[in-house]
Formats: sequence, C-alpha cells, structure tokens
Amino acid sequence: MILNDAQRLQSDLLAWYDRHRRTLPWRAPPGEVADPYAVWLSEIMLQQTTVATVKGYFERFLTRWPTVADLAAAPLDDVLTEWAGLGYYARARNLHKCANVVVERHGGRFPANEAVLLELPGIGRYTAAAIAAIAFDQGATVVDGNVERVISRLRAIETPLPDSKPEIWRWAEAITPAARAGDFAQAMMDLGATVCTPRTPLCMVCPWSWACEARAAGIAADLPRKKARKPRPTRYGMAFWLEREGKAGREVLLRRRPEEGLLGGMMEVPSSPWTEDPAADGWSHAPAQAEWTAVDEPVVHVFTHFRLELDVVRGEVSAGVVAEGVWVRLDRLADYALPTVMTKAIKAARG
Ligand code: SF4
Repeated sequence: MILNDAQRLQSDLLAWYDRHRRTLPWRAPPGEVADPYAVWLSEIMLQQTTVATVKGYFERFLTRWPTVADLAAAPLDDVLTEWAGLGYYARARNLHKCANVVVERHGGRFPANEAVLLELPGIGRYTAAAIAAIAFDQGATVVDGNVERVISRLRAIETPLPDSKPEIWRWAEAITPAARAGDFAQAMMDLGATVCTPRTPLCMVCPWSWACEARAAGIAADLPRKKARKPRPTRYGMAFWLEREGKAGREVLLRRRPEEGLLGGMMEVPSSPWTEDPAADGWSHAPAQAEWTAVDEPVVHVFTHFRLELDVVRGEVSAGVVAEGVWVRLDRLADYALPTVMTKAIKAARG
C-alpha cells in the first residue's frame, strides 16, 4: 500500500468517526481524555462478552468502586459476586489482582507504556494496546475481532483465521496513525460493529469502500474465512441440591470450588467431577446420605471448550447431619457469587 493510501484511509475513517462514533459509557466525550481505569475495566469485561451485556456491569462496578484503589481494597468475594453472569471468572480474579498491582507498584495510576501494561495480571497484547491507544493516545495498534474482519476485507485476505492474524496485524500496523491513535482504534471497532458487520456489510455507507478489495471482488460477506472448528465434546456430571430446615428458615448446601481450574474459587451446588464418560459414577460424590429425587431434564451449559450436561438431584437432610460446605439460607442465595451454570442448576432444582 502506498503511503498516500494509508493517509487517506486514516483521514476518511477519522472523519467518519467524528460523525458516527457510538456513545458508550466508558468512552470520553469528543475532545476529552478517557479515564484509564474505565478503559481497562471495560476492555476486560468486553473480552468474550457483548457491549449490550457489559454496559450494566460496567456502570455497577464504577458506581460501587469509582477508582482502581477502591476496587483493589474490595474483598475478592464482592468482586466475584458483582461479576457473576459475565462468565470466565479467571478474568474477575485477575481484575482484582491487577487493581492491587496498580495500587502497590504504580501508585494507583495505570502505566501509559504498552510494554509495562503487558506485565500486569490479565492484560494481554490486545488489552495493553487498547489502553495505551485509547487512554494515553499512544500509537499502539489495536486488533480485536471487529478489526480482524475489517482488515481481512479491506485487503481481501483469503487465508483463514487464525493463520491470517500475522498478516492482519501487519496491515493494521501499516495504517495506524501517529496522531489520534486512540480514536483510530475505536473508529475501526465502530466500523466493524456498525457498518462492516459480519453477515451483511453496508459497503454503500462505508468510508473505506473506495479502497476495499473484498468489496471490489464481491466477496466481502465471505470474509474473514475461518478454519473449521473441532466439534465441542460433551461432559457429564451431577449436581446435588441438598436442603435442611435451619434455625432461621430453609437452607441449602453450597460449596466453594477449588481455586485452580474452571470456575475456580466460585461457589457451587456440590457437584461430581465433569467427565466425558456418560456412565461415570456421580453418586459417590453426593455430599450426604439422603433420599434423592432427580429433576426430569439435565441442565445444559455450553463452555468455550465443551458442552456440559448436568443431572440435578434434590434431597433433604435433618439439621444434625454433617456435610462438607456451607449452609446458606434460601433467601440469602443472591449474596453468593454463583456462576451461570449453577444458577441454571438451582432454577432446575427449585422448579
Ligand atoms: Fe467492510 Fe464493505 Fe467497508 Fe469493505 S467496503 S470495509 S467490506 S463495509
């Protein structure tokens, strides 16, 4: 690409952005500098989650913990509880860890340098570049799923993802401007989200239609190509909903999952290990001897790498029975950070 093309791509996109930018709660108004804490928080939340879902969570977090120091000082359990429903709980634990590192090592201010940002917990290449560009206007190149799609089309890259990533990065770097890098990054994201959409790109209103090779070749909607995914395996498990009559009302047994591994440190309805063997013996993991009754349909939950079928059973014990875990009053369940799969199990158990 000749330099003039890069400059025209930059100025056309920035002019389009000035007219059509999305208003998002974590974005600074035009001409103002974004708060690095808000940018970081939103970027961590947006990993694997849609803008529509993140908005409410973002506003609740910011109201409850207005600064990174407030978040660092919060008990981890409170953070996990606010996070419940966003999934991928390792992100929430890293969020809390990162807030503490920013307070302890950087005096409560996010570093502006991409390489230093990369050393913080939970911050990878994409997030470091996004914070450096959006919050500090550094000339960092930001490539998310939207940008991958836009660049694949702009250059008609037919190599399937993820193999095409290095080529996409090279092109993205070649057109990143030195000035207004943050606006440019957000403009590409907005273009991907509102114009260069996955199924039916609106090339007629696109500021880059004059340069777009996929549009010219009539293959825009077919790009980016993706390698065929391996089918998700299914795992099976059992969840044991155990109630008793407590001193102050009905109670249910919950348990904390081990710190390491999927949903680490989250509360759960006591469950058997999740295995790919549908005939595995789940009953030996029952938390107590009880008369168990099965819920009709298994709870199905889809994780990134597998699909889970959880058989839910209900039981009851008398107050003196010892079982590992914590007894929680049914009307206090909302106080606990329960992952989505467990809220599904609870709903099934309670009918
Ligand atoms: Fe996407 Fe069409 Fe614009 Fe090309 S012209 S970048 S395919 S919206």
